[in-house]
Amino acid sequence: MSKLILIMLVIGAAIWLYRRHTQSSPAQRPASRRPASGRETTMVRCDACGVFVPESETRRDGEHRICQRHV
Ligand SMILES: [Zn+2]
Repeated sequence: MSKLILIMLVIGAAIWLYRRHTQSSPAQRPASRRPASGRETTMVRCDACGVFVPESETRRDGEHRICQRHV
């Protein structure tokens, strides 16, 4: 019986940690993040074509930033 309670506590803690992590973490994996909604977007210049695009739609290539058209 106490084992069941322990398992439920672990699952609950895991869900809580997961939700906390996904809600409040800023871009940790820029490649797989969707464009930010509601957040302030920074416009950066594409080094390949010179067009200003939202930072979330660019890809880092060393020191350069390129927009999704060149990926
Ligand atoms: Zn470009």
